[in-house]
Amino acid sequence: MSEALSWNSYPAYLERTYGYRIWRVGVDAGFSCPNRKSDRSGGCVYCDALGATAAYQRTYDGTAGRTADILKQINRGREFMIRRYKAQHFALYFQAFSNTFAPVGVLKQIYDSSLEGNTWDQLIVSTRPDCIDREKTELLASYKQRGLEVCVELGLQSGCDRILSAMNRGHNVKCFLDASKIVKDAGLELCVHTLLGFPGEGEAELEMTADVFNKSEAGFIKIHNLNVVKDTPLYVNYLEGKADAPDVNSYIRSVAFLLRRIRPEAVIERLMCETPSNRLVSPTGFPDKNSFIRMLDSYMKENGYYQGELYK
Ligand code: SF4
Repeated sequence: MSEALSWNSYPAYLERTYGYRIWRVGVDAGFSCPNRKSDRSGGCVYCDALGATAAYQRTYDGTAGRTADILKQINRGREFMIRRYKAQHFALYFQAFSNTFAPVGVLKQIYDSSLEGNTWDQLIVSTRPDCIDREKTELLASYKQRGLEVCVELGLQSGCDRILSAMNRGHNVKCFLDASKIVKDAGLELCVHTLLGFPGEGEAELEMTADVFNKSEAGFIKIHNLNVVKDTPLYVNYLEGKADAPDVNSYIRSVAFLLRRIRPEAVIERLMCETPSNRLVSPTGFPDKNSFIRMLDSYMKENGYYQGELYK
């Protein structure tokens, strides 16, 4: 665990494992999402039509990257990180929408051509639990032979089926656990996405999320706060006074509750959403990432909390 923080941080993991920082080049490879109709309607109630497209790709070609050439996106992303951060090591991150939502032959062609021509440390593929099978994980595992760390990011969001249904996630907890096993059986790293603060979520539901995460045996977790974003079904509920996002103090309590219950060795990759301000409706006045980390760590330390203390 990082000496400075009350949890096992991702920068500390990179330092231990690689001895240097790795920068993620997020790409939108044009995949869709099985939870959305072909006209992009439907989907999770909190998701807008951008489906987690990287911030620096959103204005690309004026179309959120959807028509952009992947290699152009990669060059643009790498150049941006080299220019701004003097980055030297990179992960290719298939980030937007469901990046295994295609026949395996198509996936191979996309992954192969995207990896070509540059040096990478990691290949990271974000997808849904109902969108992965053994053939696809075998393909992903084959990239380990190139010396890459290969990680699949699976969206769980909540360990409570009632909340998953209210989110319109289109999968349940069992589907997530089955997919996790397929990923782990293939020898791939697994990162789980969780979303805290959905209406109806209390300590019992957070406990279920911690339990399901622990059962998945994932090595990594991303924790997000619910955001109300324009042009989503959740936004309509918000306007009707039926839903809102947690404020920072409430969210800190939820994150601490979860962290205390998850495996102590799990690596915390992310602790909050960073929705661009032109799309974000609520919460307002949320601190930036570094301020949030300081606030959370102070809260944990003041209360004597640390990651995994209540893990059984
Ligand atoms: S699975 Fe992801 S891309 Fe699909 S609707 Fe839900 S949040 Fe959006």
